[in-house]
Amino acid sequence: KIKEIAIYGKGGIGKSTTTSNISAALSDAGYNVMQVGCDPKSDSTNTLTGGKSIPTVLDSLRKGRGALKVEDVIFEGFNGIHCVEAGGPEPGVGCAGRGIITAVEFLKQENVYEEYSPDIVLYDVLGDVVCGGFAMPIREGVADQVYTVSSADFMAIYAANNLFKGIKKYSTGGGALFSGLIANSITFGAQKEILEDFTKQTKSTIAGFVPRSLTVTQAELSGKTTIEASPDSEQADVYRKLAKDIYNNKEEYVPSPLESDELKDWAESWSDKLLDLKKQEEGDFKI
Ligand code: ADP
Ligand code: SF4
Ligand code: MG
Repeated sequence: KIKEIAIYGKGGIGKSTTTSNISAALSDAGYNVMQVGCDPKSDSTNTLTGGKSIPTVLDSLRKGRGALKVEDVIFEGFNGIHCVEAGGPEPGVGCAGRGIITAVEFLKQENVYEEYSPDIVLYDVLGDVVCGGFAMPIREGVADQVYTVSSADFMAIYAANNLFKGIKKYSTGGGALFSGLIANSITFGAQKEILEDFTKQTKSTIAGFVPRSLTVTQAELSGKTTIEASPDSEQADVYRKLAKDIYNNKEEYVPSPLESDELKDWAESWSDKLLDLKKQEEGDFKI
C-alpha cells in the first residue's frame, strides 16, 4: 500500500523545505518518492529540481489543447523523485483550492499511483484549512496521515490549531487523521517548551524538532535540499531522522483543538512565563 501523507502549515513556515528534505532523505534511503506541491505558490519542488519551477497541472490544463498527458506534469527531480505542482489560479480569478482537487483527480484518473508505484506520496499543502479546497486531502481521506509544520510563533500555532479543527470536523466522515507536529526553526529552549505545551494542551504529539540552520539557507541558495547540498551536516542528520520517524510513524488520531478564548489564555500564560524568563536571564530586562 502506498503511504500518502499531507504536510500542512501557514505560508513561509518551512513546509516545502521540510517536505523536500524528507523526500530527498527517503529517496536516498532507497524509497520511490513522489512529492505533490499543493500551494498556489507552486515552488514546493524547486530544491528538488535545481531551483527551477516546473509547469503546474492547472497551467498545463489551461494551455493544453488536447488531453493532458502524465508526462506533461510529472518531472524527475533529485535522485529520481517524482515532482508535481498542482498550481494556482490566474491572478484575480480564484480558486486556489481547486488546484489541489484538479491535480489529485487527474493523478488518480490517469492511474499515476499504479504506474509510478511510489512507496510514499507527500502532499505539501498551504494553510490552516479554512476552505474546502485546501481541506481536500483531509476531507476526502486522500492522505493517510496529516502533519503540520509549526514554529513557536503564535501565528503558526494559531494555524496548527485551525488545522486541528478541520481534522476534527471531517474525522466523523472518514477524513484523514493527525500524526504529529513538525517543530521547525527551533533555536531556543523556550520555543521547544512552547510547542511541547501546545501539543500537550491539544492532545497531540511532536513528530520531530528541526533547528533553524544556515546550512538550510545555503542549500536553498544553491537550488538544492540540505540532503543534497550538505549530506554530511548535522542538519542533514536531523532531516534523515525525521524522514525515518515519519515513514515508520503509526500514530493516527483526532487532536483536541483549543477554543479561541482558551488559545488566547494559553498564549497570555506563555507571555508571562517568557517575561519571567527574560527577567531572570537579564536582570533589568526592559520591554
Ligand atoms: P513554506 O513552504 O511553508 O511557505 P518554505 O519551506 O518555502 O516555507 O520556507 C520559507 C523560508 O524559510 C525559506 O527561505 C527556507 O529556506 C527558510 N527555512 C525553512 N526552514 C528553515 C530552517 N530550519 N532553517 C533555516 N531556514 C529555514
Ligand atoms: Fe477556492 Fe478556497 Fe477560495 Fe473557496 S475559499 S474560492 S475553495 S480557494
Ligand atoms: Mg512552500
